[in-house]
Amino acid sequence: MKIADIYKQNKRSLSFEIFPPKKDEELRSIDETLEVLCELDPDFISVTFGAGGGSNCNRTIEIAKKIKHRYGVEPVVHLTSLHYDREEIDEFARVMEAEGIENILALRGDRTPKLREKNDFTHASDLISYLSENHDFCFLGACYPECHPESDGKISDIKGLRKKVEAGAEVLLSQLFFDNEKFYGFCEQCRIAGIDVPIIPGIMPVINAAQIKRMLSLCNASFPDRFTRIVRKYEDRKEALFDAGMSYVTSQVIDLLASDIPGIHIYTMNNPVVARRICEGICHLV
Ligand code: FAD
Repeated sequence: MKIADIYKQNKRSLSFEIFPPKKDEELRSIDETLEVLCELDPDFISVTFGAGGGSNCNRTIEIAKKIKHRYGVEPVVHLTSLHYDREEIDEFARVMEAEGIENILALRGDRTPKLREKNDFTHASDLISYLSENHDFCFLGACYPECHPESDGKISDIKGLRKKVEAGAEVLLSQLFFDNEKFYGFCEQCRIAGIDVPIIPGIMPVINAAQIKRMLSLCNASFPDRFTRIVRKYEDRKEALFDAGMSYVTSQVIDLLASDIPGIHIYTMNNPVVARRICEGICHLV
């Protein structure tokens, strides 16, 4: 099933993101994660893609196959393009088609000095335009409520996003954020710019101190005072921080649901306990 069709039925979606384990011995744990996640009856599960190749890319497709064929849930394959040429992208598309995978989160991928960039795809919009010529995938795209780190500001970021939607992205999945007001403002700016596809908020439960430090260094997300107070108070007490983080994320999701957003996409970090706790907290609201 194509993910865009969910929203055409005016249905509100629940979805999860997982990542392929790096080590062979962790591969079994992904089955345990999927067992629990699929019991929560998501509309789709997206699987991240390691930029620049390696065995993890094949793992992405292997895991997506499993989600579809073993668990009967629709997978979305993340596909980055900056470090691939057209032939390599054609090969990924061929494998996905052969497996009946219909949905791609089309991405440019992050710039990194470790990986050589190829010149066929500069933006996710180029990947979407190229693949739409010969294939029938449903394309999702990434969006950034607090701007992509490389952008010159909100206006140019939203102009770039509009090009992605004009190229054929039918659904947008957002970067994580902790302040819902930033997301609401961003959605409003998208509507003004004529972007009228569903924008699904990406929600990251923050439940341990190391993760918070990583978030601070990696993404543009701002931390509201309420969130910072919780972290400051409980960062040295593991269980307390877990409880406070779960409570924060649940209240964030409840507020989003009350604001009529089209769905919720949870970055599970392969932690099914966290996903289950959130779902239990909102079971009568979705
Ligand atoms: P683009 O769409 O190219 O956007 C990058 C910047 O260029 C933005 O500022 C945008 O406004 C601008 N822009 C876009 N199109 C145009 C255009 N046609 N002309 C001019 N400007 C334009 N990375 C991974 O390596 N693997 C993953 O699995 C992965 N999953 C992700 C999932 C989500 C939901 C998100 C939000 C990000 C994910 N990323 C992943 C990170 C992503 O690869 C990086 O953020 C990357 O730097 C940008 O990718 P993009 O597809 O948004 O790029």
